Amino acid sequence: MSTIRPRPGLEGCEPYGAPELEVPVRLNVNENPYPPSEAVVAGIAAAVAGAAAGANRYPDRDFPALRTALADYLAVESGVRLPPERIWAANGSNEVMLHILQAFGGPGRPCLSFAPTYSMYPEYARDTLTPFVTERRSDDFTLGSPDSDDPGQGIQGITEAVRAHRPAVIIVASPNNPTGTALPTHQLRALLDAARGSGPVDLEGRPCDALVVVDEAYGEFRRPGVPSALELLEDNPHLVVTRTMSKAFGMAGLRLGYMAAGTSVVEALRVVRLPYHLSALTQAAALAALGHREELMAQVASLRAERDELVTWLRSRGLTAHDSDANFVLFGPFADRDAVWRDLLDDGVLIRVVGPPGYLRVSVGTPEETARFRAALTRTLSSPE
Ligand code: PMP
Repeated sequence: MSTIRPRPGLEGCEPYGAPELEVPVRLNVNENPYPPSEAVVAGIAAAVAGAAAGANRYPDRDFPALRTALADYLAVESGVRLPPERIWAANGSNEVMLHILQAFGGPGRPCLSFAPTYSMYPEYARDTLTPFVTERRSDDFTLGSPDSDDPGQGIQGITEAVRAHRPAVIIVASPNNPTGTALPTHQLRALLDAARGSGPVDLEGRPCDALVVVDEAYGEFRRPGVPSALELLEDNPHLVVTRTMSKAFGMAGLRLGYMAAGTSVVEALRVVRLPYHLSALTQAAALAALGHREELMAQVASLRAERDELVTWLRSRGLTAHDSDANFVLFGPFADRDAVWRDLLDDGVLIRVVGPPGYLRVSVGTPEETARFRAALTRTLSSPE
C-alpha cells in the first residue's frame, strides 16, 4: 500500500467536467452546434500538414502571426484595433486565465468573483494557491441593483466589495455563465474605478491596482447595442478581456483562447507560460480557421435569433427564462431539477444542471435540436409527477 497523497487542498477533489454522454442531442456545454464545412476542414487540414512537415522543430514561442490575426479579428468584431503585442493566447481561455492567476494571484493575493458564475474560476485559484472570494450578483445577475433605474445604484456595493477584499485579481464573466447576463458598461466602469489602488500592496508598501479580467467567452453572442469591454482597454491598463474560439467560432476542439490587455500584462504572462505551450499544429489550425472567419461565424446571427425565440417559448410555458447575451438560456424553477434533467436525458436530450437551485441551463442548438428539446420538455412538464 502506498501512502502518496496529493497536496492538501486537492484531497477529495473530483476532476472538473460535465458528463460526456453519447446522446442524440447534446446541449450541455455551450458548443456551437454547426460543424465546420468541408472547405474549412480542408483548409485547416492543409495548414496542419504544412506545420507537421516542420514538426521536428519546436514551434514559435511567441506566435506573432497568430497574435496579429487575432488582433485583426478583434478589430473587425468590436471595432477596437490593438497591436499584436497586446494579445496573448493559450490552449483555451481556461489556460489564459490560469496564466493570469499564475502571474497575478498566489498566496495572500485573493481572486474576487461574483456568483453565480463559471465554476472553473475557483479551480484556477485552487491550482495557483490563490485565495478565492465571492460576492453575490444581484437578482438580475448583474453587479447592481435590479429594481432601480438609477445607474448609480449598485456601484456603492461594487466599490465596498472590492475595498473589503483588496483582491489581486477580479474575474467577471460578461456574458456570464450560467446566467447569460452581460454587464452594463457603467458597472464595468465602476468595477475598474474601484479596482484602482484597491489591490494588494507592493514590496514598498504602495497599494497596487487590482487586475480586472472580463471573461467574454460568449462575447460574440451579445445582443445589438451591448458593447464589449474591449472598448474600455484604452483607459484602463489594469483591464484584461479574454475571448475564445470555442464558442461563436465553432472551434471548441481546437483549444484556442486568447486575451487583450496592456503589454505589461502580456509580459507577465510570458514569464509563467511553459515554453512552447502552443503547439505548431494548434497555431496553424487557428490561423487557418481565422482565415475562414466569415464562414465559421455565419451561424452566429441565427443562433442569437434561435436563443431569443427559446426564451420567449420557455416563458410561454410559464417558466422563468433569463434574458441571454450568450448561446444558452437559464430557465426554471423546478421543484426537482434533477428529475427534469433525467427525463430529458431519457428522451435523448442532454442539458446541464447548474446555476441557482431549481434552475437548468440549455445551450442553443440547431433548429432541429431545439425542437427536440422543446418536445421533450413539453412531455416532461405535462407528465404527472
Ligand atoms: N469562460 C466561460 C464563461 C466559459 O463558459 C468557458 C467554457 N465553458 C470558458 C471560459 C472556457 O472556454 P475555453 O477554455 O474552451 O476557451
